[in-house]
This record gives sequence, structure tokens and C-alpha cells, in this order.
Amino acid sequence: MKQLQKYLNNIDGKGYKAYKSIQGSYKFSDFQLHVDYVQGDPFASPSRIRIIVPNNARPIKNEWKENKQRRVYVSDRIARKVSEAIQKESDKAKGSGKSGLIYIDSPGQEILERTAVLLGENECTICLSIGLPANGRRINGREAERLFLKLIPSILQRSIFSISDKELRESAQLADQHIEIRKQMRENGWIVFIADGSVLPRESGISNRPLKSAVPFRSPKENRVEIMIPHREKPLSGMALKQGINLIVGGGYHGKSTLLHAIERGVYPHINGDGREYVVTDPYAVKIRAEDGRQITSVNISTFINDLPHAQDTKNFSTENASGSTSQAANVVEAIEAGAATLLIDEDTSATNFMIRDARMNALVHQDKEPITPFIDKIKQLYNDLNVSTILVMGGSGDYFDVSDNVIMMDHYLPHNVTKEAKMIVEKYPLNRTFHVTDISKHENKRVFLPNSLSLRKGKKKRVQARGLSSIQMGETLIELSNVEQLVDSSQTNTLAEIIRYLEENSVLKKEWTLMELLDYLESVMEEMGLQELSQYPGKHPGDLARPRRFEIAACFNRMRTAKVK
Ligand code: ADP
Ligand code: MG
Repeated sequence: MKQLQKYLNNIDGKGYKAYKSIQGSYKFSDFQLHVDYVQGDPFASPSRIRIIVPNNARPIKNEWKENKQRRVYVSDRIARKVSEAIQKESDKAKGSGKSGLIYIDSPGQEILERTAVLLGENECTICLSIGLPANGRRINGREAERLFLKLIPSILQRSIFSISDKELRESAQLADQHIEIRKQMRENGWIVFIADGSVLPRESGISNRPLKSAVPFRSPKENRVEIMIPHREKPLSGMALKQGINLIVGGGYHGKSTLLHAIERGVYPHINGDGREYVVTDPYAVKIRAEDGRQITSVNISTFINDLPHAQDTKNFSTENASGSTSQAANVVEAIEAGAATLLIDEDTSATNFMIRDARMNALVHQDKEPITPFIDKIKQLYNDLNVSTILVMGGSGDYFDVSDNVIMMDHYLPHNVTKEAKMIVEKYPLNRTFHVTDISKHENKRVFLPNSLSLRKGKKKRVQARGLSSIQMGETLIELSNVEQLVDSSQTNTLAEIIRYLEENSVLKKEWTLMELLDYLESVMEEMGLQELSQYPGKHPGDLARPRRFEIAACFNRMRTAKVK
């Protein structure tokens, strides 16, 4: 600490580059500071430091680290606490560029595995980014001293050194409860569980916080279950949706999409107080939507689309500019290729001609002239042959009554089970259209990507970098992810960019992989070695990474405009 003070004194007033000399490690009374990376100028991306707090300075009980989930939840809680402390402590940045900035990659409403706080055997590592202070391009050593010797220690005082055991225990207990809910869901074949009292709607279209005036969720009695979970005396009651075909109907503005959104997000755990902390979805559930304009690379969409004009091959379909229906078909096939077990579909974001074609249209435009076999004709086969369930929001057409196992009607934001009524209507008004049944197991999509086609082009600008939540700059092309709705945190996008770089740097792509094998491989790297394994700075501040699911990794590969398939 004295050493750092001396360095800062020496370089005060010098050109910004002189900051490079503070790179290194410093001992403070109750933590160790590592300055891993020093920014080149006050406007460049901030410097990266790590704070290592040994267990004897702030004991983190072994029981809070006893399994992966508990570790993830407890480190998430610490990261939130640090973030709150930064907000309280940081005053207005003084000086040029990013001078005085202090930043931790703070979590949103979801609890994701991330690198912001890492719990080791004997220590807790906190990864921060800071803007080293300057006036113009001259070092402001006094402000730097205040930042390192005053602000950061008091942020740590307010967070890691004062967070109560109770808070950490609560997080560990939430992890236990989620583990148990997931276990019971698997045992019972439930793909969704939504506890009574949950708050599904969000404050606004741009806020992920709960809507305060919301009507709390109440399960319909036909779908109501009660489960016992740890750290809670009374059973938890709520709605369970079983595997199979679940249809959500109801009038416009009665809360259908809100329910589906909550289900989509339920693949990730949420913090206490979010309103969705007991909304749990099959982690293999994937949102499917139309996404016109996307790249498609050699996908077998022939289950849904055949005989396109100009004899385009749909068994091996590629385009740089997909239509609504072809993009939605590709999204279904690719999700299944990556291992999806549940598909989540909302009419609001679907291509109508992909979802339905009624009897009258069938009569006018004969099957031979229509390339699309609508999803309604395949939904049962997907379940019967491939064991892929669907949860579908459809307020505009009753055709799906025929094929649904369970029909939920949203009425004034509350769900009712109307399966019986729907089936009676099916008898009363039969469809008069034949379902187009083919053997879909023959249409399997098992692509082998050409070695190196997923990596950066040689020679050109070799850089891969996330640009916010929804795009990645890869060399000279952009990977567009804004319609990948279950990508929820920009640090997940950072990880996707790191994955691309990692595969290249470790020559992983020299050999041939099916997509499935590649996803399995990447998941095993993250599971066994931790996210920081993917970082380009081994042993240092790993960058702000959060773990994406295999489906979002697949979505990234699938949208690369450079990819080629054997
Ligand atoms: P739908 O898809 O049926 O047309 P939405 O799900 O889009 O309806 O919901 C319409 C509006 O109602 C949204 O503004 C949403 O925030 C609000 N809303 C949804 N569920 C609730 C609820 N439980 N309590 C209060 N408002 C809700
Ligand atoms: Mg809607």
C-alpha cells in the first residue's frame, strides 16, 4: 500500500502512459490488490483490478460453497452488495474521460454464473474496472490515491466486510429451493412451475423490475400442485404445466404474452423479491420466433418447407436473408438440433403462415402449391416422435384446440383451465382440414461445420468483441442477436465473443464437430474449469463474463455469416 502511494506520488502530473508502472500487486491490511491492466489513455476502456479478500479477513463458510449452485448464488449476492456500495460511495468523476469510474459487472434480476466475484477455497476475489484519474492527458496522482486508498477500501467496508451471514445464507437457501423445485419438476414431467403469488408483469417494456400494481398469479385448480421445498415450512402451491402441448388463449391484453415472457425467463433463476423467484421453467426450453433477415446456414427445414420457387433445396437451406416463415422454421430445427426439449412460441412474434392455415385457404391454395406445412401439422409429431413439448400463445385461432393437451385461458391476468370447453368446441365445430403428417425423424439436422468457418478470417482485422447485449463484431462481420430473446445479460454476450476467440486460439476448430458435440464440449469447459477458462487473460481479471446457455451459444454460431457446413 505504501508502495502504491509512492508510485502515485512519483507519476503525479506526468503523461498518462506512466500509469503503466503501477501494474502489479499490493498488500493492504485486509486484502490484496492486483492491478492487472492499465488503460492506455483516460478515454480508453477502463483499467482492471482484482481485490483478493482472504477467508480470515471475511470468512465465507464452506457450506455456502458446498455445491456449484450455492457458490453461484452467494457470489451473485456479494456482487450485488459491492455494486450497491459503489453507488453509495462514488462521487462525480473528476477529470477527463473515465477518470474516477469504479465499476463491477453487477447482476440484473437473474442469478447467473459470472466472473465478477469468484469464491475460491481460501479467498474471495472481486473484479473491478476503474478509470484512472487524469486532467486532460496528465496523471492526477492525488485523485488516484484517493481512489485506491480511500474509495475502494470504503466500498469494501460497505460490502464484503459488512455483508451479513444472514444475507449470504438466504442466497444459499434460495439455491437449495431452486434445486429442489427443478428436481421435482423432472420427476413429475413438469416443464413449468409458477408459484401462487408470483408477480409476472414488469414495470415497463424497458425495465425488468416487478410491476408494483400487478395482479398476483393464482393457479387454476386443475393445474394446481403443492410441493415441499427446503427452508420453508408450508408447502409451495402453484401451477404446473406438464410435458406435451400447452396452449395459452384469451382476449387481447389479458396477460398471455406476459405469462409466456415469465416462462421464457424462468430458465434462469431470479432473486428474492423479483416476483419470479418461484417461476421455474425447463432449462431446455427455447423461445422460437420469426426473425426475418437472419442468416441461415445449411439447415434442413424440409419438415416445414418444401418446393420453394426456383427449386431451392430445403433439406440444405441457406440464405443471407430469411423470410418470416423460413426463419421461424430454422429456429425450430436449430433449437432441436441443440437439444431443446420445450419450444415457447407467441403469436405476437410468429409468422402467421408458419403457424396456421385454415380450411378455406387449404381449399383455395392446394397443398401442392403451398411450400409451407404449418407448425400445427407437426406440433404433435414433435412431441410424440422427438419428445419435444410446446407452450404456445394463440389468441387468434382455435385450430390448435385439436392438438392441445392442456388449454389455459388468461382472463383479467388470471389463468383458467378451459381444456374441457375447448375439446367440446372441437366436437361441435370440426376442423374439416387434414393434417399433413410425414416422418419427421428422417429430417434430422446434424450439421458438421467446416473447420475454421466459425472462426475469424485470417489476415483481416482479427478481433471479436461484443457490442452490448445483442451483437458481436467478428472481424468485419456483425453477428446480430437482437432476436435471441433468452440472451438476457450483456456479459453473456461478452462470453459468446470470448468463446469465438477461445475456439480459435486453442485450435479447437481444426477438427470437425457437429454442433451438438461442440456445445457439449463448451459446456464441459465452463462446468469443469469455470468461466474464467474462456478468458484471454489467464490468472488475471477475466473480463466481465456471465454464462450463456448452450442454446444461446448455438444461436450465435447459427447467425454467423461466415459459417460453412460440410
Ligand atoms: P396479451 O398478450 O394477452 O395481449 P399482455 O401480456 O401483453 O397481453 O399484457 C397486456 C398488459 O397487461 C401489459 O401492459 C402487461 O404489463 C399488463 N399485465 C399483464 N399481466 C398483468 C398482471 N398480472 N397484473 C397487472 N398487469 C398485467
Ligand atoms: Mg400478446
